[in-house]
Amino acid sequence: MTGHVHSHHAQGQRGPRCLEVFARFSEYLDGELDEMDCRLIEEHIKDCAPCVEFLRSLRRSIEAAHAYSAQVEPAQPPPELESRLKQAWQEALRRRKSA
Ligand SMILES: [Zn+2]
Repeated sequence: MTGHVHSHHAQGQRGPRCLEVFARFSEYLDGELDEMDCRLIEEHIKDCAPCVEFLRSLRRSIEAAHAYSAQVEPAQPPPELESRLKQAWQEALRRRKSA
């Protein structure tokens, strides 16, 4: 019977939420964000296990896609991959909430 739903001490401060962070992950990994945005994301990730997990799998997928496209032809990763990643991320979030 633990009653901690929101234990973020920084609640109310401006900062990205998971969905915002998620939306910017690919830009972040590509180095397209400016320093301040990178910082906000890194700050968020520090406290957010689902995002860490998601970022790790996204990074791996991007590396795999780059390796693949380098061998074959410049192609974008299939949209299927993106939705699968998003699903995995949401599952991680849900699991965390119900834990
Ligand atoms: Zn998060």
